[in-house]
Amino acid sequence: MGDGAVTEQYRQALEVAHRHAAGWLDTLADRPIRPEVDVDGVRARLDGVLPEEGRDPVAVVEELAAASADGLMAMGSPRFYGFVIGGTYPAALAADWLVTAWDQNTGSRQPTPATAAVEEVAATWLLDLLGLPAESGVGFVTGGTMANFSCLVAARDAVLRRAGADPAAGIQAGPALRFLAGDAVHTSMVLAGRLAGLGAPRTVGADDQGRIDVAGLERALGAATGPAIVALQAGDVHSGAFDDFAAAVAVAHRAGAWVHVDGAFGLWAAASPRLQHLVRGMADADSWATDAHKTLNVPYDCGVAIVRDEPAMTAALGAHAAYLPSVESISDPYDRTPELSRRARGVPVWAALRSLGRQGVARLVDGLTDAATALAAGFAGIPGLEVLNDVPFTQVCLAAPDDGATAALGDWLRAEGTVWASSSTWRGRTVVRFAVSNHGTDAEAVRRTVDVVARGAAALGIGER
Ligand SMILES: *Cc1c(COP(=O)(O)O)cnc(C)c1O
Repeated sequence: MGDGAVTEQYRQALEVAHRHAAGWLDTLADRPIRPEVDVDGVRARLDGVLPEEGRDPVAVVEELAAASADGLMAMGSPRFYGFVIGGTYPAALAADWLVTAWDQNTGSRQPTPATAAVEEVAATWLLDLLGLPAESGVGFVTGGTMANFSCLVAARDAVLRRAGADPAAGIQAGPALRFLAGDAVHTSMVLAGRLAGLGAPRTVGADDQGRIDVAGLERALGAATGPAIVALQAGDVHSGAFDDFAAAVAVAHRAGAWVHVDGAFGLWAAASPRLQHLVRGMADADSWATDAHKTLNVPYDCGVAIVRDEPAMTAALGAHAAYLPSVESISDPYDRTPELSRRARGVPVWAALRSLGRQGVARLVDGLTDAATALAAGFAGIPGLEVLNDVPFTQVCLAAPDDGATAALGDWLRAEGTVWASSSTWRGRTVVRFAVSNHGTDAEAVRRTVDVVARGAAALGIGER
């Protein structure tokens, strides 16, 4: 560029963005978690015909910030318990900004040595932390769903090839594929199966916490022959439960099936010496999906697809064209993800891991679990309320005596604004589900959360009936 005026435009626009970003982060501790205005309200400020002429960058950023401010959900607050998503660590957020400014298309190694190297280090550290085979292929994708999808595509092609079929001919040309999962399979896994051409998984049962029924799995696998893929789960979104990997992987492997683990948030239990027992036997699977934008607290969008048999991964996901540079002996990033062009989304993962260290990641995961345990204990002391799940990890499902009261409590809490938790249905009952995923959810956040839930229950007359 070399043009001082142009550089000055970037600097000014980034400064305005920086000011608004810092302002937003400053409000997180005290503002209501819920947005103050709905989609239509924000649209009303921005709607209108596409302007014929543009505006200068500073004015554009100002306009965007002004139109959006009260339409933002404080998802980074330590009292946001929605979905299973958390905040972002300072190092990860800042690294993500650099990734954007650097604007490196990190699909192939050679043209972008810096970001490719940082991602390779992040991948190596992840495998180490999560106790997964060091030879595994790692792809940085947009999220857990694409990680599940990427792993299923690798699985699909590998089991087809093992059955003597040519994956390039498509699944319609090969033998029938079986795709099996427990009854509590996440909707993301169902979508991934459909995207991969496997259809929704056939479910084989689950126990009261959502753990796959291993005997049911064995029966289902024994009922037919031919290539099979089994999806297991580390961390049920309602109960936080983990499948019995040691038993289920052994049963699946005896039947020649590929075993995939959806560990969008639960895979991180492996990084804690205290919680590792939850994932015993998990490393014997064939592929694993996780999110960094959940438990690790990096910005969206960042999922991780991990496949033990790296050549199987690159055979399924790799792209080959004369103009795409590659180094023969080492696969390129685009060989391990569905994308060709993409941002260097593994860089914030490196930054989060570098700023935490091994001990810091263990403390993070332990801290989320401790906060969930403390929430459950606090809720149990509120008259009329009941925690329905066992709480081995980060998820707490809260219920009043009847579904109507539980639904009303969820609405009351979200409107009150001190906390935000999703309403859901679990085991036939309406629940308010608290997913602890933010590194900042400390004892004070737990105290304020229990306090506001108690106030909500009292306001609604729960416990007096
Ligand atoms: C969140 C989640 C997913 C999907 O991850 P995204 O990043 O939202 O695509 C899949 N499985 C489980 C268990 C999850 O909690």
